[in-house]
Amino acid sequence: MPVPLPDESLLSWLDHLSTVYGVNRTIAAQACGATRSHDNGVRVSASSAQSVVFGMGDDDVRRIRAATGLMPAAVRRMTWTRFAGSALPEKVRTAAGADNYRTVKSSWIDPGELRFCPQCLDERGGRWPLAWSTPWVFACLRHQCYLLPGCPVCRRTVRAGEIDLANGACRGSVRDPVRREVRPCAVPYRDMAAPLLRDPLLTNLQERLDGYLADLEPCPDTTRADLSDLAAMADLALFLATPDHLSGADLVVLERFAAFSRRYSAASGRLMPRKDRDAPEMFVRTACLRVAAQVVFSKDPWSAALELADFASRPLIRPVRLLHQSWIKRPPQNTTARLSRIVSAVCAPTSTGEGRKASTGVDQRAPGQTPC
Ligand SMILES: [Zn+2]
Ligand SMILES: [Zn+2]
Repeated sequence: MPVPLPDESLLSWLDHLSTVYGVNRTIAAQACGATRSHDNGVRVSASSAQSVVFGMGDDDVRRIRAATGLMPAAVRRMTWTRFAGSALPEKVRTAAGADNYRTVKSSWIDPGELRFCPQCLDERGGRWPLAWSTPWVFACLRHQCYLLPGCPVCRRTVRAGEIDLANGACRGSVRDPVRREVRPCAVPYRDMAAPLLRDPLLTNLQERLDGYLADLEPCPDTTRADLSDLAAMADLALFLATPDHLSGADLVVLERFAAFSRRYSAASGRLMPRKDRDAPEMFVRTACLRVAAQVVFSKDPWSAALELADFASRPLIRPVRLLHQSWIKRPPQNTTARLSRIVSAVCAPTSTGEGRKASTGVDQRAPGQTPC
């Protein structure tokens, strides 16, 4: 039986077994002991609270060991518990899978997301690392390219667990400009062209993040601290940054963020639908991470953050209002002392006393309704 690659996701390994033995994923999961004979496909899906990808109990790992000889630690490294102490809080190492599902979803991660490097897919027979489902991996340093969140031809996005990256091709459709008819896109995933990574700042950041995610146990405290601070400042950038703050970025990052900025103007307060607020597209989030890194790893994070917008003065200036409301309702989690002045300033009460009300959890106003 093929053993998992060192960084491989459980779903990738199961899909590889499916291909090798010519069965579907549910059958492959039962055969290798990942699930019991009466379990259905939900137990091996990417984003169901019942899925074993969020953590396995002792019975689960014992069953897999009996069926495959794999040691429990190797099995658990394929699940989200792999990132305990780095991309996820330490508690996921021992918590139940259903609890971890909630923790993953509240840790700046959508477990259904997937981005990929086509050349890596080609070299690895379509097998993919779990880290490709986190926002912390946006580029492949081995091939010096950005990961693709979907097909570059028809823009159809991919979702973890829904596609066969090893053997599959895009399921989107394209309109033939000459014949004016719609035809299947069908570009094989491994043949897709990924934009080149040239930006030294994002290259350095990806190098640092790869190091954080590669740390198994125990992770140094600085790993979790840096990731929490980066997530908070990326959120700040999502509301306040403009293309002017991306000097030196690669064109693909700049253009996608410029398109996002045109759709939701920072100057008039960036009123985004929940989808774009919680899960902005990969290049937009990468742009925000780029800005965040310049704040978090600056000698003076306070001054670096203030270059985005004056979030400290009261009454609030228009671009800051929605950020203020958002953080009052859901403050950034686990940020460190280096950001405390920034977080306090953004969340400080307005002249109408909104901050004081919100800190007691009674602020029920919808975005845009605050008379600042
Ligand atoms: Zn690659
Ligand atoms: Zn396509």
